[in-house]
Amino acid sequence: MASSIRTLNPATGKIEKEFDAYSSEQINQYIDDANELYKTWRFESFEERKAIMKRVADEMRKQKPRLAALITTEMGKPLKESEIEIDYSANIIEYYADNAEKFLANTPLETEKGTAYIVSEPIGVLLGVMPWNFPFSQIARFAGPHIMAGNTVVLKTASNIPQCGIAFEEMFTAAGAPKGLYKNLLMSGKDTDKIIENPKIVGVSLTGSEAAGAQVASIAGKHVKPSVLELGGSDPMIVLDDADIEKVMSGTINGRLRNAGQACTSSKRIIVQEGIYDEYLKKITDHVNKMVVGDPTQPETEMGPVSSENALEGLLEQISDSSKKGATVVTGGKRLEKDGFFLAPTILTDLKPGMKGYDEEIFGPVVCIWKVKDIEEALQIANDTPYGLGASIYTENVANAEKIARRIDSGMVYVNKQVSSSPELPFGGVKHSGYGRELSKAGILEFVNKKLIMIA
Ligand code: NAP
Repeated sequence: MASSIRTLNPATGKIEKEFDAYSSEQINQYIDDANELYKTWRFESFEERKAIMKRVADEMRKQKPRLAALITTEMGKPLKESEIEIDYSANIIEYYADNAEKFLANTPLETEKGTAYIVSEPIGVLLGVMPWNFPFSQIARFAGPHIMAGNTVVLKTASNIPQCGIAFEEMFTAAGAPKGLYKNLLMSGKDTDKIIENPKIVGVSLTGSEAAGAQVASIAGKHVKPSVLELGGSDPMIVLDDADIEKVMSGTINGRLRNAGQACTSSKRIIVQEGIYDEYLKKITDHVNKMVVGDPTQPETEMGPVSSENALEGLLEQISDSSKKGATVVTGGKRLEKDGFFLAPTILTDLKPGMKGYDEEIFGPVVCIWKVKDIEEALQIANDTPYGLGASIYTENVANAEKIARRIDSGMVYVNKQVSSSPELPFGGVKHSGYGRELSKAGILEFVNKKLIMIA
C-alpha cells in the first residue's frame, strides 16, 4: 500500500518520495532518549543552551536554499516566500536563545508570610504536532522557546511535508545538539494518541484543525497533561470609510492572498464600509485578475498551488455551495487548467449565513467581502463565527480602532496591518481557535513549572 507519509508536489501532482512510518518501538526509544537527556538538559546553563540553539539558527541560514526548495516542493509556496520563512524560523530560534533567560527569571512576590518568589522550571519531554502551511516556522515557534526553557522535544509534523520534518532535525544534528534534544517522528496524525499516553510525555502543543486539536486535547486531558491548541481561524478584517486604501490593499494582498490563502490568521472575512467599498472592490479585483499564478519555483510567480487535490476540491465545493445559494463570484472560482492543484484566485461577495463561504473557514485564495453601513453592522459580522484567532481594523482614526478592538472576540487585533507572527509578540486565539499562547514571554511560560519558593 502507498505510504501516506510522502512528498506529493502540489505544483505537478507527482509523488516524489515516500517514507515508512516509524514503528512504535522506534518511537518509544526516541521518547526514552529525550527523557534521558532531559535529566541533565534541565540543569544545563542558559549559556550552553544558547550556544547550541544559535548554531541551529546559523545552520538554517547556511542551508537556506536547500531548505526553501524543500518547502516549495512539498507544499507549493513560491520560493521567495519559502526563503523568507527560513530566515524567520532562524530569527525565532535566535530570539529565544537570546531572551529565554530574561523571560524565565525569578519573579519576587509580595507576602507577609516571608520571602517568596516563583522560579520557572522545565517539565520534561514535550510533543509538538504541527501543520504543513508553514513547515519550518511552525516548528520553530514550538521548539525554540521550549528547548531554551530546558524541556526536550519530539515533533510530529504533517504527513505531506516529511522532508521538511527530517531537515529540521538535521539542523540540530549539524549544530552538534545532544541526542534526545530534538527528534522528528515520521508517523501519521491518527497515531499520536499512543504517544500522548506515554508517561514520559508531559505536554503537547498542536497547531492544526479543530478536529485534530479536540482529539489531542481530549487524550491529554484524560492523562492530566497540559496542552496548547492553535487551531483554525476566520479572521475579520474591518475596513472603515476613512481607511488608507494603500494599507488596505497591502493588508489584503499580504493578509489574504499570501501562501495561497493558507494561513490560520489570513483575513478570511473582509468587512468594508459602504463609502470605500466600490473603490476597494475595483482595486482588489484588478489586482487578483493580474496575479501570476503558476510554477512556485519561478521568481515572477505570485501564487502557487494549494496543498492537495483534496484541499482544492474542498475549496471548489465551498465556492459552488455559496454561489448556488446566492453569493456572487466576482472573479475566479475555478480550477486552472494545468497540472497540479491550482485554484484561480477568487473573490466572493453577497455571502450569507447558511452558505459554506459564510459558515466555514476557507483555507485558500478566496477573498470574501461584505459591504456594511456602519461599525455596528461590521462588528456583528466580525463576531459571527465560532473562531476567534486574529482580527484587523483599517482606519486613520487610531483611537477609534482601539475602542473597536476591545469589542472583537479574538486573541489578537492588528490596526492598519495584517495579523502576523513575530517572535516577541504573543500569538493565539479564543473560542474554537484554541487556547494558550505561542511566542513572547507568554508562550515560553506555557510548559514550565511556575514553582513557588517561600521562606518563612
Ligand atoms: P490538520 O489536518 O489538523 O493537521 C495538522 C497536524 O495534525 C498534522 O501534523 C496532522 O498529521 C495532525 N493530525 C491530524 N489529525 C490528527 C488527529 N486526529 N490526532 C492528532 N494529530 C492529528 O490540519 P490541516 O487541515 O492540515 O491544517 C490546516 C488547519 O490548521 C487550518 O484550520 C488552519 O487554520 C490551522 N492552522 C492554525 C494555525 C494557528 O497557529 N492557529 C497555524 C496554521 C494552521 P497528518 O498530516 O499525519 O494527518
